[in-house]
Amino acid sequence: MTVKSSSMGYPRIGENREWKKLLEHFWGGDLSEETFHREAKQLRLSYLRKQQEKGIDLIPVGDFSLYDHVLDTAVMFGIVPTRFDYDGGRVSLHTYFDIARGTKGASASEMTKWYNTNYHYIVPELNDCKPLLVQNRPLEFYREAKQELGIEGKPVLLGPISFVLLSKGYEPEQTREVIHKFLPLYEQVFKELENEGVRWIQIDEPALVTTVSDEVRSLYKEVYEVLHQSAPNLHVLLQTYFESVTHYDDVIQLPVQGIGFDFVHDRGENLKAIKEKGFPLDKVLAAGVVDGRNVWRSNLDQKIDVLSELTNEIELDRLIVQPSSSLLHVPVTLKNENKIPDVLLNALSFADEKLQEVVLLAMGVKEGKEAIRQEISSSVYAVQQLNQSSYRNDDVAQESSQSSEDIKRKAPFHVRYELQKKSLEIPFLPTTTIGSFPQTKEVRKQRLQWRKNEISDKAYRSYIEKEIEKWIRIQEEIGLDVLVHGEFERTDMVEFFGEKLNGFQFTKFGWVQSYGSRCVKPPLIYGEVSFEKPMTVRETVYAQSLTNKRVKGMLTGPITIVNWSFVRDDRTKAETANQIAVALRAEVEALEQNRIRIIQMDEPALREGLPLKKELQQQYLDQAVYAFKLATSSVENETQIHTHMCYSEFEEIIESIKALDADVISIETSRSHGELIKAFEDSTYEQGIGLGVYDIHSPRVPNQTEMIRSIDRALQVLPENLFWINPDCGLKTRRPAETIEALKVMVSAAKQTRKRFLVHE
Ligand code: GLN
Ligand code: ZN
Repeated sequence: MTVKSSSMGYPRIGENREWKKLLEHFWGGDLSEETFHREAKQLRLSYLRKQQEKGIDLIPVGDFSLYDHVLDTAVMFGIVPTRFDYDGGRVSLHTYFDIARGTKGASASEMTKWYNTNYHYIVPELNDCKPLLVQNRPLEFYREAKQELGIEGKPVLLGPISFVLLSKGYEPEQTREVIHKFLPLYEQVFKELENEGVRWIQIDEPALVTTVSDEVRSLYKEVYEVLHQSAPNLHVLLQTYFESVTHYDDVIQLPVQGIGFDFVHDRGENLKAIKEKGFPLDKVLAAGVVDGRNVWRSNLDQKIDVLSELTNEIELDRLIVQPSSSLLHVPVTLKNENKIPDVLLNALSFADEKLQEVVLLAMGVKEGKEAIRQEISSSVYAVQQLNQSSYRNDDVAQESSQSSEDIKRKAPFHVRYELQKKSLEIPFLPTTTIGSFPQTKEVRKQRLQWRKNEISDKAYRSYIEKEIEKWIRIQEEIGLDVLVHGEFERTDMVEFFGEKLNGFQFTKFGWVQSYGSRCVKPPLIYGEVSFEKPMTVRETVYAQSLTNKRVKGMLTGPITIVNWSFVRDDRTKAETANQIAVALRAEVEALEQNRIRIIQMDEPALREGLPLKKELQQQYLDQAVYAFKLATSSVENETQIHTHMCYSEFEEIIESIKALDADVISIETSRSHGELIKAFEDSTYEQGIGLGVYDIHSPRVPNQTEMIRSIDRALQVLPENLFWINPDCGLKTRRPAETIEALKVMVSAAKQTRKRFLVHE
């Protein structure tokens, strides 16, 4: 055996999103189940073949999914919430999709972020389940690869500790008990794989990089001891990623044959631990050196150096070279990108290119740099060229990334509050919305035609203006207090700004899976970000010109832009966020100069960027608060800054939310009202705040009693003179009729509530 190359997981979506199309055809009823399965299999095999052709030694099998790998794990154990059709045995394809997508009568399982990525998994509901192994998925996919392609695959399976920690439906103190319920099933999977003659299985345990309780920590040993006993001849590669392992000493002693580390997103900690504490002689070390989460080409020279440091600790034939994580998080291939400038294109690497890098590195570490000299120099050259290009050398913008002055609003909140109340004529219990109004088929059609140059700028603009006008009138009629222009000119809240700021590049096919068949195309922040010209002034001012009510300007915040993009890796995210903040500040000021006195800067992605380790979280939050303030603090006291967030797990971050010093914050609430109210019981919030009074994710129009109930519940913990009444989130996915109806109910609920207060006073 010698240095091996490996892949930990490959994108599911296909070069042209074939996978997405296949799923959507099937859901749309255009395909029989048989055809669907046949085509899915063709895709799956083509991905394996591709990895084989690239020369990857250990090819993952079972990482492919028809929706989500956490859901796959749940259904192989027969975990199906009782509201869905299921009476034991293998879970049918229809039930599988029902859990993920919901049915008329049963809501879908919750979905949430996969660690600190933008991939969402389906949260298994374990409530009193009696798990049973109803499908040995890893074995099936192992057999398929072997029969069809002669590939000795490496089955990938989510490990029991991470699986249970990612699930819900039990109390934290039951964790051990619940893991032990699943353990026999994992044993059975392992035994069957061993009998089949499988050599390596990759067990993903990303939980090992997070902060866990001592109880969970003590489970590592227990669990892996049991699994080892059950199949002593199966080689277990315990795989971690997204950070450094939290308890290195514990982890290296586990009875497994190999351990996988992330050497890209570990802040140098994994390598340091290995150098300081050594690595066991009897284990294989899988080295994730090629960034599995970002799109930059590896500097092969530096990567070989890292690998060489490892080979000081272990023998060559116990080293595996691989990406830092599954390649699920990066686009498939650069091959079809023909609009990206060369200097940037040469410095990029998507999944297919990354696998090539892995293979080269395996060869380079085995035979020495000389063996891949040419490839090393071209990679070093490409990275250097980009770094030295004018894109990355703009002094003014560079300075903005280093911003560190103490920034704050001119006066504290209570002073601003009085000034704003007067000059903006904000009524008691004001009503507003979060920004977007329905993006109808027609809106999207117009935009597409404009993008394809089928209609002129002028025609498109006048269409957008007509929509704005229509919705200004609608809002006036409904009787909302603070109006919005509706965001009809935006497809996506990050893309819109990325296309107008300097330093961003958009790809043609750079899709990554977000959840289910839903893919996103994150922009690449590759250069110095700077403000070029006003981005939102035209539409906002136009909307304001139509009405005597106040129109709120709508911007996306720096942290959300950073978290939903691929960012430069030659500087910190915080520096990039500051640079974006300075550019956005120019927009805020432009709006203000144009007499827009209410400006909202959305930060829906603030919380999801929270580091996986507790001890790193405060620094992240402080930097996020800094960037937000950098973007919003230069305005006059009379200008009201709003922000919006789409989640409500606030307890841990409430101090940072306060520190943003926004005049008004709106928060999504409906899906977890109780918990949120509790957060505000435990901690007082004394600036303007709107807790969403109805859920916009459903077409259902709630009645007035329900809305009044949510308002009343919020008013038990929040002062009424600071309270705003708004929906949970933007309305772009809703239909016009239901939007109008729901907002009417909302406004009348607000009026009712106002009356009650005035009577009492
Ligand atoms: N202003 C945006 C909208 O209304 C906010 C979207 C979001 O929070 N994700 O669509
Ligand atoms: Zn939202």
